[in-house]
Amino acid sequence: MKKILILFSFLIFGSLSLKAQKVECTTRAGNIPYMFSKEKQDSINTILAINSPYCIRAYITVFADDNGSNRADTDANILANFQFMVNSFQTHSICFMLINIRQINNTDLNNHDSDTEEAELNPFRITDCLNIFIHRSLPGNGTAYAIPNTYCSLDGVSYNIATMGHEVGHCLGLYHTFQKFGNPSVQENVTRNSGNACYNCTTQGDLLCDTPADNDGGVNGSCVYTGGGTDPCNGSSFAPMTSNMMAYGNFLCRNAFTTGQGSRMRSTIVGNATINDLATNDIVYRPSSSNSTITWTINEGFETARDELYISNYVNDAYNVSGSAVRRFVSKKVYLRPGTHFYPTTGRVHIKTNPYCN
Ligand SMILES: [Zn+2]
Repeated sequence: MKKILILFSFLIFGSLSLKAQKVECTTRAGNIPYMFSKEKQDSINTILAINSPYCIRAYITVFADDNGSNRADTDANILANFQFMVNSFQTHSICFMLINIRQINNTDLNNHDSDTEEAELNPFRITDCLNIFIHRSLPGNGTAYAIPNTYCSLDGVSYNIATMGHEVGHCLGLYHTFQKFGNPSVQENVTRNSGNACYNCTTQGDLLCDTPADNDGGVNGSCVYTGGGTDPCNGSSFAPMTSNMMAYGNFLCRNAFTTGQGSRMRSTIVGNATINDLATNDIVYRPSSSNSTITWTINEGFETARDELYISNYVNDAYNVSGSAVRRFVSKKVYLRPGTHFYPTTGRVHIKTNPYCN
């Protein structure tokens, strides 16, 4: 019995320590900070309010082994993570729509080395969607590969409730709160007084001054920072925001972005053309004018709008889905007007209202 207990505790502590050693996030920050010029930011600021909230199309791919076993995560858990992400972004006028969760059987991609095999994802990336890939095994809990980016990967076994929102934060232009650029020995200092000689929050750290300087120390079960340490310039104690989604520490404490982070993400959606393609328009008409016809007989695709999606709305227009075509229609409201013809044979038509954008 004693032997069994020893073996049992070894197994438990062995797996616990293995999990603790896993890197939280392996997103590469790049050498040049991702920032807009002042002129560009000024023009973005004039646009920012108009289409708010910005609704990002998300497409989730969950991998399994070649024979369908070892699925990286369940739909129920993926949806719980997705909802947590939605909640953390909504106060910053960013919402989401989930186009689909699909399963791809591929043992190699289920056990994915995101450090060296990033390009293997390319055939599976869905255009105009934020692609969230969930694998059985990754080097870290997750990675967004680059900042910004249109896709990220999550480890379906080791990730936590805050990982999806963290990686999507990178995708929308955010750095870690403890980021260091260029010279890794230069620390963001604590002061937020621009008259102080130690003031460097605009050029160091995550380049945001409303996220407190962070030296990536520990956070206890009460979400209190235990890392200690003082900044090297004037010896001020670090007091990082333990609830910040882009920090490490205790994942159970993470659920919030700052105003500055929200602004950075919305600026990325407006000002970065590639990321802007992920956002759906508020009201969409398909076709977009009278006397037009759209016909789908093969292939898979989607039509989306944040608020209202009108199919075959105008005089003498038509929207046809037949054969093996698969079409997904997602919006707060979907209107199917005269001239809409759905008669797929081996294909399918999905019509979904979006619960993730209020
Ligand atoms: Zn990260």
